[in-house]
Amino acid sequence: MAPDQQALWQDTPPAAQRLVAVLGRLVAVMRSDAWRATSVEGLTPTQADLLALLAGRASGARLGWLAEQLRITSATASDAVASLVAKGWVQKARALDDARALSLSLTRTGRTLARRLGAPSGVVEVALGSLPLQTQDQLLAGLLQLVGELQRNQDFPELRTCVTCEHFEAHRHADVGAPHHCHLVGAALPARLLRVDCPEHVAASRAVQAGRWQALRA
Ligand code: SF4
Repeated sequence: MAPDQQALWQDTPPAAQRLVAVLGRLVAVMRSDAWRATSVEGLTPTQADLLALLAGRASGARLGWLAEQLRITSATASDAVASLVAKGWVQKARALDDARALSLSLTRTGRTLARRLGAPSGVVEVALGSLPLQTQDQLLAGLLQLVGELQRNQDFPELRTCVTCEHFEAHRHADVGAPHHCHLVGAALPARLLRVDCPEHVAASRAVQAGRWQALRA
């Protein structure tokens, strides 16, 4: 006997709960995909994530920052970094701004490897790329709003996105196709080109960031 429609609808979990379920499955697929791709290079996904983070930090990064970005313990990050150093892909040096601290950066071979690993090949990325552009834009906008909510509660690590950048000005232009503005390059910025890890990013003040996230939500 077919289930009662009204009871079925009533049992449907709230949208937020269903979205978390979908996001959880997507993360699982991306993790297993990453295991497949990175194991070919003898890397764990965490090591590959560290390489990707360092690839975007020409001036290097501290261990603590890397651990925070990946939401892993310092001990786990330290083990992964030690392995990358032993393989010759990461190097340690004194930090320029603090001689007592260590800065981590990619070696030349590490940079080549990071570039290779960064090529779009993951099944989720390929599937996303095949969606209509408008859907991709809507997904990006929705996910950025989610990040904003998490950052308001300090539950999301620093993201070098236009929304939090000193150079960004939202809705400066009347053109709906390119409403925003990047003062660094002095040009209109279409919503679909909003960056999420821009090397030129300069963090705006916390108050400005909070206002921007609020505006994005609205
Ligand atoms: S510098 Fe980069 S992050 Fe900042 S507004 Fe321009 S494109 Fe966006």
